[in-house]
Amino acid sequence: MMSEDGYTGGCYDDGCYDDGDYEDGNALAGPLSEIFAVDVVSAQGHCTGCGTTGPIAQLRVYGPGPGLVARCPACGQVVMRYVRGRDSAWLDLRGTVSLRIDLAE
Ligand SMILES: [Zn+2]
Repeated sequence: MMSEDGYTGGCYDDGCYDDGDYEDGNALAGPLSEIFAVDVVSAQGHCTGCGTTGPIAQLRVYGPGPGLVARCPACGQVVMRYVRGRDSAWLDLRGTVSLRIDLAE
């Protein structure tokens, strides 16, 4: 079934997902607060798949195991992966052209 924004879930090279089987990007706030000193969910991310720019909070986040996978809400491409090990974290941003992070003046 197609969602309002046209993204229907589906199968990708890293697995299959049903639409609705995700949380929004705010699910990344806690995990990413360990490695970013700023509130990264309000940052603007730019998708490599479709060029959409939008706040990290609007990503579709699947997980938690084996890690968090954040997909573009417009095209479904993976824009961010986050895995937290016992004493380290892996952040894969291959699907993101850039992150614009607002900072205080
Ligand atoms: Zn996209």
